[in-house]
Amino acid sequence: MNASITQLFSLDNKCVLITGASSGLGAHFGRTLAAAGAKVALAARRTARLQDLVQEIEATGGQAHAFELDVTDRASVNACLDAVMSVFGPVDILVNNAGVSDTKSALDYQDTDWDRIFDTNLKGAWIVAQETAKRMVELARGGNLINVCSILASRVSGGVGPYSAAKAGLLNLTRSMALELARHDIRVNALSPGYVITELNAEFLRSEEGDRLRSRIPTRRFSEMADLDGVLLLLASNASRAMTGTDIVVDGGHLCSGL
Ligand code: NDP
Repeated sequence: MNASITQLFSLDNKCVLITGASSGLGAHFGRTLAAAGAKVALAARRTARLQDLVQEIEATGGQAHAFELDVTDRASVNACLDAVMSVFGPVDILVNNAGVSDTKSALDYQDTDWDRIFDTNLKGAWIVAQETAKRMVELARGGNLINVCSILASRVSGGVGPYSAAKAGLLNLTRSMALELARHDIRVNALSPGYVITELNAEFLRSEEGDRLRSRIPTRRFSEMADLDGVLLLLASNASRAMTGTDIVVDGGHLCSGL
């Protein structure tokens, strides 16, 4: 391949902070971005899991470090950003991925469920994006924020009202931050997966109920985590330098099916 084309997607020595990197998509994003040459700052509450991932990435020649982070706590977010700065330098790219979900009837949700979902998926993502952006502006070196949303930001489904509302909020926050931060050379985009098989949902997605869900996806398949790699590398790299305020959906056509 032409060298300038491969260079377009290069993340060599870029510092990427990934929230929610202790499992599922966040851990996968850490492996992918490290393989693309980035220094990956892996952040979450379960630091023992992060340490295992650091060892795995380092064993394959990548650069990674574990950082404790609770996205619902602004002091924890700032302590994490300070720690990343001292280990890897300033954050170039944020993958704002930490999230929680729940499934129950709209009639059964309690205020505590609502708070947990909104505090993590919307306010938590806001705090991390805001504090990261403040530092990017202070250093005047530009930056790149990627918010992990969901197709449930753009459609509804039974049992996930608070989650859908929080993700819809995050999608609009993506657009609003893109608008304001463009003058500081900071891009803000959303990556919206459909149903992706991870360690947590694999059993359900492979059950009979999962089969019914799969039949509503035009391609009749759930995504694998690796199906997100191309879009992640596009959004993280300079290849998307003219893109901001957009949402890229990876869902096998689920959203367009309307089912
Ligand atoms: P997991 O449950 O596997 O991972 C969630 C991650 O978020 C964990 O690493 C967890 O780490 C972290 N997290 C949760 N709360 C906090 C907190 N307060 N502070 C810091 N980290 C936190 O989920 P997935 O990998 O499936 O989901 C990742 C993202 O992708 C989420 O935003 C989710 O909404 C989104 N998504 C997932 C889809 C899927 O099909 N899997 C589809 C569409 C979107 P710890 O507990 O160690 O803090």
